Amino acid sequence: MADTNTNNTEEIKPPESDALNEEKAYRCSFCGKDVNEVFMLVAGPAVFICDECIEKAQELVRAKKEEQARDS
Ligand SMILES: [Zn+2]
Repeated sequence: MADTNTNNTEEIKPPESDALNEEKAYRCSFCGKDVNEVFMLVAGPAVFICDECIEKAQELVRAKKEEQARDS
C-alpha cells in the first residue's frame, strides 16, 4: 500500500549552452569584432557598437557638421 517509489520529481537542467551562445553573440554590428577584441561594446535595442566604430562615427558627424557650417 505504501508506495515509496515517487516518480514526481522532475530534473530541471539550467540552459548552460544557451547562456554561452548568448555571450558569443556580443559583437559589433558595424565591424563585426567580438566583445573580447575591443575596448568596450555599447549595446542598443538590437545592435552593438564598439568604441572604435563610435570614434569613426564621431569623426563622420564632425566632418558633416563642419561641411554644413561652411555651406550656411
Ligand atoms: Zn566596431
